[in-house]
Amino acid sequence: MTLLDHTASTGTAQGTRQGFNTTAVHAGQEPDPLTGAVVPPIYQTSTFVQDGINVLRGGHEYSRGSNPTRNGFETQLAALEHGSRAFAFASGLAAEDALLRSVLRPGDHVVLGGDGYGGTNRLINGVLGPWGIQNTPVDITDPTAVAAAVRPGTTAVLWVETPSNPLLGIADLAAWAEIAHRAGALLVVDNTFASPYLQRPLDLGADAVVHSTTKYIGGHSDVLGGAVVVADREYRGQGLAEAVGYQQFAAGAVAGPQDSYLAARGLKTLGLRMDRHGANAAELAGWLQGRPQIAQVYYPGLPEHPGHELASRQMDGYGGIVSVRLAGGEAAARAFAQSTELFALSVSLGGVESLICYCSEMTHASVRGTALEVPADLVRLSVGVEDVADLQADLEAALERAADLSAPIRA
Ligand SMILES: *Cc1c(COP(=O)(O)O)cnc(C)c1O
Repeated sequence: MTLLDHTASTGTAQGTRQGFNTTAVHAGQEPDPLTGAVVPPIYQTSTFVQDGINVLRGGHEYSRGSNPTRNGFETQLAALEHGSRAFAFASGLAAEDALLRSVLRPGDHVVLGGDGYGGTNRLINGVLGPWGIQNTPVDITDPTAVAAAVRPGTTAVLWVETPSNPLLGIADLAAWAEIAHRAGALLVVDNTFASPYLQRPLDLGADAVVHSTTKYIGGHSDVLGGAVVVADREYRGQGLAEAVGYQQFAAGAVAGPQDSYLAARGLKTLGLRMDRHGANAAELAGWLQGRPQIAQVYYPGLPEHPGHELASRQMDGYGGIVSVRLAGGEAAARAFAQSTELFALSVSLGGVESLICYCSEMTHASVRGTALEVPADLVRLSVGVEDVADLQADLEAALERAADLSAPIRA
């Protein structure tokens, strides 16, 4: 292996695979061969000196094309998602945009899972729409509706997020993959909510995975980033990795070295954090179900959740996001979201600190008034890794305050 050749150690083509946490700590994160630094350095450089014209010392020329810190993170993530290559971008949306422009051509159609990230909807409608991309939103839990939305010969991409945002619906990824491939289309899965620790869509037949690494992968609410991970697949006569790599280089929305370092550092503890997020979320979801102020709890770990069995088969846990609907309606939901102390009123999710969000006017404001509108009585919790007793006490106090502040609660 050459000095900085991280891509050689992806490990996905190897017969034996190490455990998730071992891979998370070591893949692409070898000690620096130059100095012995255990943590690969932040190569904060735009360009690399050449030993002669186009004689590259460590394989790097210019940091838009490749940078060792970014490449190390890409190798680490590709190994964890069981992909052939990963590409890191400046944000989740930059990653989504790069992937879509790599594979779509004007006139193409996208089957778009409803109940998804509002920004994905805005990207596909607002940015790609004027370039001739059409889309049909579908109920992600209904494979018959998904198949019916496909336009043979025109549909190029099926796009789904599972668990979905904010209603935590579960899509059957193997069924989606079959529908996509029957139509000659690609299946793209936004794996931000589950993270590779809980779900590996490429193993279930997906062609590409996207992440907002801003969320669980970074894990500490201190960095914005995104990634595309691809399977070893051809599309329109070109390797997917080649197509996305070209887009990353040619359009240039790359993750910088500092951001790549933070994402890689977060990724090392992803498994530890997800275990705690999941345990805390499961406990709070069960407790919330018994509260008189709560009309409904959405959490795939609850046996009553319609996607529970599927999630149990398809995932290795249920994640850290819980959504609730308030018995007191919109006024109660607004009051609840503004009454917590530990849970910070904020968009985003997946960090160590707990966050609370009034989705219909915050994360999902862009789909208000459309078929994808989020219920006005819904509040989303991103359950952090704090002590669960403190989180529960915070929610309990907020529910009581909300009951005082909101319209009378109907039983
Ligand atoms: C946040 C998020 C995105 C967008 O990522 P950014 O890093 O904010 O650009 C995409 N998908 C999901 C599920 C998200 O939560």
